[in-house]
Amino acid sequence: MSMIPPHTIDEVRMRSDIVEVVSRYIPLKKAGASYRALCPFHEEKTPSFNVSPAKQIFHCFGCGEGGNAITFVMKHENISFPEAVRVLADQCGIEIKTTQNKAEGAKERIYKAMEAASLFYQKRLQSEGATAPVRKYLEKRGVTDELVKIFGIGWAPDEWEALTGHLLKSGFDRKTLESAGLSKPSSKGNLIDRFRGRLMFPIFSFGGKTIAFGARLIDDGDKQAPKYINSPETPVYSKRSVLYGLNLAKNAARRENSLIVVEGYMDTLALRSAGIDNCAAVSGTAFTSMQAEAIRRVCENVVVLFDTDEAGVTAAKKSVPILLDIGLRVKALSLPGVKDPDEFIKTRGKEEFIRLVAAAPPFPLFIIDSAMSGAKLGGVEEKTRAVRDAIPFLRRIQDNIERSQYVQILAERAGIEIKTLQAEVGARPKAQTQAGQAETPGKKNKAQFLAEKILLRIFLENPEYMENYASTLSIDNFKTQDHKDIYKLILEARDKGLDATADIVGLAVDDRLRKNLTQLSLEMNLFDEKDIEQVVSDCASLALYSPEARRRTLKEQAMAAESGESGKFIEAKKKYMKSRSRKVQ
Ligand SMILES: [Zn+2]
Repeated sequence: MSMIPPHTIDEVRMRSDIVEVVSRYIPLKKAGASYRALCPFHEEKTPSFNVSPAKQIFHCFGCGEGGNAITFVMKHENISFPEAVRVLADQCGIEIKTTQNKAEGAKERIYKAMEAASLFYQKRLQSEGATAPVRKYLEKRGVTDELVKIFGIGWAPDEWEALTGHLLKSGFDRKTLESAGLSKPSSKGNLIDRFRGRLMFPIFSFGGKTIAFGARLIDDGDKQAPKYINSPETPVYSKRSVLYGLNLAKNAARRENSLIVVEGYMDTLALRSAGIDNCAAVSGTAFTSMQAEAIRRVCENVVVLFDTDEAGVTAAKKSVPILLDIGLRVKALSLPGVKDPDEFIKTRGKEEFIRLVAAAPPFPLFIIDSAMSGAKLGGVEEKTRAVRDAIPFLRRIQDNIERSQYVQILAERAGIEIKTLQAEVGARPKAQTQAGQAETPGKKNKAQFLAEKILLRIFLENPEYMENYASTLSIDNFKTQDHKDIYKLILEARDKGLDATADIVGLAVDDRLRKNLTQLSLEMNLFDEKDIEQVVSDCASLALYSPEARRRTLKEQAMAAESGESGKFIEAKKKYMKSRSRKVQ
């Protein structure tokens, strides 16, 4: 792709005023030092969408969306970063001189070839004749013309060189067609079409570019040929990073804060034709971390379709941990008595499907249920094995309170003592202690949480206060992952010499991080200038000297002293052991 030079991006950043930019899209009303509006990213009756001219950022306290001027254009027009920069450059009359390097040029040619191929396949589907059985197949599966259009479905004719010839004539070179995976050399050495006599499903990037094809055989006469084949891995396509249909589902998924993940192209189409738009498909059995990241960019909840038989449960156990690890909430949906969502919706209706999705059990519960139902008739050993089976999944739940609730449920179902199970899972005995005891650690955690938040808020606004702490306050001093991420980003901004809030926000690639930043920046009032130093010092000492942080510091000292004088070492080690034993109690 052609690249926009960094200095041009900087110029666009500086010259785009957030109030001007946003008010081109929605009417803004002045409210004090900032502006308000009805949020364009979620439906609401009272305005919770805030624009701060001072900080050049926006944040919606209703849905959490936030960012700077570029982010706003990206979200509102549903376009990529470079595209948004172009839009803004256009609006402020900045000319973009693009640079192009060789690798980018090759990629760009592949994208163009994929696009041309997709158009070719779509046209062939529209033209009658050879495609009659295909049309019949689509009709049978309830795929409307509208869906064919939305998903760009096409037809690869059963000819050797139909596409290759067409693309070569259009000016594409052999190398591009080969590296795009559209054509391949025959045994005679000439270039032939990779896909022949197949229904073509374009696979899109997150931004909506055609990067590959999935191809389904229509004429089942040839039993030797596989029913589905895919594009090979290419410079623009990695199977591991894509979810089919996510680009078309992302707006609905954002709105619902939930994505339904099904198994194949036809399942996705079946749900779409029933008007359920927040769905995408995963090919293969296990999720990859890249797919998990892609999902987290659009929502926090995933409903995954599983078979309830043993193979299905085993597959689920393998594929879900990566989603839990990234902090997604996972529900397990099973459709009893049918082979796929298509059949389910046709026989039992859309309403029933939606009801099942809403009632789908959270994944930990699904695991507990499947573990315990297998062990129901068994003795002590089976039960033990079932409980042990479920424990790793409980450990992965990021939220302490949520985890502790599932520990309780599993303990009840298995008829074992909650304390025993807690010790195994390793959860802190928070919710289950006596009311009087539970108070103190809860309060302490809250105080630390708040102290971290205030600290980050001040650093975000006034990076100069960081100078005294940047060397002592490490990312690990912050307790929650969100706070760690924010601090890491502020440090990164400091290294890059960025101090404007809008620029720091612009550094955040991750959706969640960016939203947390704008919220942090706009939700809290700053302290009086004269008090800030005191506040920073108080909060930093709380963050630095939490019991965990103290133990860590002591341990480091003990380890550092190990190589030095033995007296010093013993002293430090004693302190460390003492702090440990306090924790164990
Ligand atoms: Zn909103």
